[in-house]
Amino acid sequence: MKQKHEIFHNADICVVGGGLAGMLTAVSAARLGSKVVLMQDRPVLGGNSSSEIRMWVSGAGSRVRNLQETGIVEEIMLENMYRNPDRNFSVWDSVLYEKVRFEPNIDLLLNCACCNAENDGNAIRSVTGFQLTTYTWHTVLAKIFVDCSGDSILSELTDAEYMVGREAKETFGEEFGLPAADRHTMGMSLMIQAHETDHKCTFIPPEWAYVYHTDEEMHFKPHECLEKINTNFYWIELGGMGDTIRDTENIRDELLKIAFGVWDHMKNHGEHGADNWELDWIGFLPGKRESRRYIGDYILTQNDVETGRVFPDTVAYGGWQIDNHLPGGFNMSGRDGAHLQKRRLTEPYGIPLRSLYSKNISNLMFAGRNISASHVAFSTVRVMATCGVMGQAAGTAATIAVRYGLTPRDACAEKIREIQNQLMEDDCFLPGFQRPIAPLSISAKLTAAWGDASVLHNGIERKIWGSDNGYWGMCGKPITYTFEKKTHISSFRLVADSDLDREYTDGNPDVLNISMTLFRRRDYNYTSFGFPKCLLKSFRVEALNDDGTWRTVYETDKNRSRLIRENINVDTTAVRLVPLATYFSDSLWTTFGSAQAHIFAFEVR
Ligand SMILES: Cc1cc2nc3c(=O)[nH]c(=O)nc-3n(C[C@H](O)[C@H](O)[C@H](O)COP(=O)(O)OP(=O)(O)OC[C@H]3O[C@@H](n4cnc5c(N)ncnc54)[C@H](O)[C@@H]3O)c2cc1C
Repeated sequence: MKQKHEIFHNADICVVGGGLAGMLTAVSAARLGSKVVLMQDRPVLGGNSSSEIRMWVSGAGSRVRNLQETGIVEEIMLENMYRNPDRNFSVWDSVLYEKVRFEPNIDLLLNCACCNAENDGNAIRSVTGFQLTTYTWHTVLAKIFVDCSGDSILSELTDAEYMVGREAKETFGEEFGLPAADRHTMGMSLMIQAHETDHKCTFIPPEWAYVYHTDEEMHFKPHECLEKINTNFYWIELGGMGDTIRDTENIRDELLKIAFGVWDHMKNHGEHGADNWELDWIGFLPGKRESRRYIGDYILTQNDVETGRVFPDTVAYGGWQIDNHLPGGFNMSGRDGAHLQKRRLTEPYGIPLRSLYSKNISNLMFAGRNISASHVAFSTVRVMATCGVMGQAAGTAATIAVRYGLTPRDACAEKIREIQNQLMEDDCFLPGFQRPIAPLSISAKLTAAWGDASVLHNGIERKIWGSDNGYWGMCGKPITYTFEKKTHISSFRLVADSDLDREYTDGNPDVLNISMTLFRRRDYNYTSFGFPKCLLKSFRVEALNDDGTWRTVYETDKNRSRLIRENINVDTTAVRLVPLATYFSDSLWTTFGSAQAHIFAFEVR
């Protein structure tokens, strides 16, 4: 018998699944020095947000003001806003791809489905995936495995405990728990993309598509997507009454019949304003909402998310509404909406590290829609920016665990402050926590040529709880640290305002909070989504020479980041930041005078 082709990889951390949760796990771990393998079964990254499925990214900020996720999530969003004003899914794919592909410590295995694991007692020794494009088996030996597959593939390849379905009220004492538990879940969906033309476009449906002559036959589902810019056919949803893993192929076939039938209804049955609309795309890969959820040391519940609970081991947060769909999906009447339960949250809630590692497999972690949460709590944590911040938390915690030779549980018990501080250093927001910063030495002074700059050194780095927390200064006016004697400054850290609420983008408020678009009207200028105009675009950092002149130690005129950290390595008695221009300077806003810079932090160290 011929030998199969197999490649072995040695890593600190192996991440399975390259949705937003898996990507951010991998990127955060790699940036902190871990050697990472990321195994993703599809040719593109991003999971449900990728061009294969086409859901837009939502998060806490989409529902509660000023709560938009920062860290790597915001880094990706800013890059996408800058490079992809037309909101093209292929460009989005490329933004995600480069974040991972060119990260030096990540070995990215695309088209590689994890399908086996070798266990050693209650730990995982290795996982193996088959790469379809090269007919190669990849076996990854690692210290910690992070399952971000959404479907919790490692639960069936190990004995990791997990749960499926909806819990009874008394299980976790939840208001939205059911009278009796069942195994139903939310279903999966296929998306549709279309655009408006200046002429009539015909559509001939495939013979196998369902035919919906009336709205009643379509269960009165709301189909105003062509007029309203910020909605889609999310209700083409099935599978929640069955098994969203084993039934996937059959459900896909059914969803295709429904999706082509729905477009046929729009075009050929009744007046829906769709005459000039042309179909661009219907997905063939169902986007999954829910399947198996792992059991960790803590199970997040409805009470936690509704009371905005702060945990001692908070490492991420959510704030999206409780968003629990009816498991019957498309087959339930749309007259009462798609939801069994829906409730907006007014506060963010913490997500504890104990919900991101397995209760019984010592080196297994998870992030994304499969974390240790009740079905009701899951319905809010599942949105992708929340999955992303969980990923950054998991990657950071896994790295610190590996660094000290600890299991995730022991790292949670012994190193939680270090994990939290690293996350905040990397621009992650942890509600209830403040980033500790070294107090200014008695000999150092922070002054600004315009206004009071003391907020730049307080560890709060966003507008929150009604407080601005930022420094407003005129461009051109420096902010200076002076020291009594010559001091070595190795680097600076700057957090600029990237307009988390997207108030200053000149865009239509309807679409400010959706990252991509599925229906393109002719009369709508999608490019107006723009880029946060208040973000600092150009600045200089200068050091004082012995002769009293200043020399530039760092400068840029194309900053696109919120968090900027650079090495400067100078021996000096003063360092200053000179903000030069924001993106306002490129816009009509300059009519109102010279732009002001809005900055949340400036530190030298
Ligand atoms: C129709 C629909 C509408 C939604 N609407 C929104 C919305 O508006 N905004 C929002 O933010 N969220 C929305 N969600 C929820 C959100 O998309 C998911 O909860 C989220 O994608 C979960 O992120 P994740 O990274 O955990 O998993 P996924 O995005 O599912 O990514 C997991 C990745 O792992 C890969 N994978 C799976 N098994 C393996 C394996 N064995 N080996 C290797 N790789 C594997 C998958 O292919 C996938 O790419 C929606 C979901 C659906 C289905």
